[in-house]
Amino acid sequence: DSVGFAVVGLGYYGAAILMPALARAQRCHVAAVVSGNPDKANRIAGAYGLSQDAVYGYDDFERIADDDRVEAVYIVLPSGLHADWTEKAFAAGKHVLCEKPMALNSAECQRMIDASVAAERKLMIGYRCHFEPYNLRAMELMREDAVGGIRHVETFQQYRMGPTSPADNWRVVRSLAGGGPLEDYGIYGLQSALYLTGEMPSSISAETIQPKGDPRFAEIFASVRTRMTFPSGATAELFTSYDTAPGRNRVAVEGDAGLLEMEPATGYSGHRMSLTRNGDQETLTPGDPGVQFYRQCDHFADAIRDNTEIIVPGEMGLRDVRLMEAIYASAASGETVAPAA
Ligand code: NAD
Repeated sequence: DSVGFAVVGLGYYGAAILMPALARAQRCHVAAVVSGNPDKANRIAGAYGLSQDAVYGYDDFERIADDDRVEAVYIVLPSGLHADWTEKAFAAGKHVLCEKPMALNSAECQRMIDASVAAERKLMIGYRCHFEPYNLRAMELMREDAVGGIRHVETFQQYRMGPTSPADNWRVVRSLAGGGPLEDYGIYGLQSALYLTGEMPSSISAETIQPKGDPRFAEIFASVRTRMTFPSGATAELFTSYDTAPGRNRVAVEGDAGLLEMEPATGYSGHRMSLTRNGDQETLTPGDPGVQFYRQCDHFADAIRDNTEIIVPGEMGLRDVRLMEAIYASAASGETVAPAA
């Protein structure tokens, strides 16, 4: 039987992307919504056929513990709220699927993992690319050595954010967004570099750019540039920015026998991918990227029902947050750092 989810946070991703996608899931469904805005919450609940008593506010969330329709909570709040809300959901006895980035520092991530263990409930991070046909095919191609030995990975996740300020937009508030573009968007390039090489970096050097006098970047960085070296000798360069136009979402893997290019690489739809070998470029169309949203939720439902392994667990979220900490440490010190294994 289908696992009931409560969606916490009815912003753009929660309400406009995840809720419609979840309607396509096989093994889970939205059973409740949790929001700070009762009018919006009631309207959305109505549109999904939920009854009035399946609408929760942030203040009365605790009573969800007694709601047997809800077995899992999907946290889609600003990133700085993920840790506290994950703890609240575990305290209510629910399983937790939490959006990326898992949290803003490794101590918060560890607290979330500890709460999961103490509650004996599952924890998964919303790394949807692990369920998306183009990225899955790319992982498979790399395992098959389709470009030969990997020498270099290059990633770009960037767009130009319109005029805004911390008073108007959580994405430029340090306490809710951390350093900014890296946690929000560059995390896709970081993840790609790891799942395509199949390695963890042995050294990292990075630089952050924070222009003075721009309200968008009063608290966060405009751009982050990272260089990594892997044990195999492969290297990676990751660039992410909120201050370049046009936008760009590219992942490329250069090997000693070929080139894999993905652009757009990690979005919601419209993916493009090609493989160039021996002078021939082949376009690959492995499937509909739209399946990624509900497949990740079905994967979590499988783990809850059948106790199957979660391929994007809290430990992976923690790993990535630690790497981001290493990136910022390198940028702050100007030194190359060796991330803790
Ligand atoms: P959003 O701004 O559209 O929505 C955030 C929601 O949180 C809003 O409904 C807002 O009212 C609510 N909220 C509650 N407390 C708040 C507070 N103190 N300050 C500001 N808003 C508050 O953001 P979003 O784009 O939906 O992002 C939400 C989360 O989802 C983030 O963690 C983000 O990283 C993640 N996300 C993931 C993807 C993905 O593809 N996996 C895409 C977009 C966003």
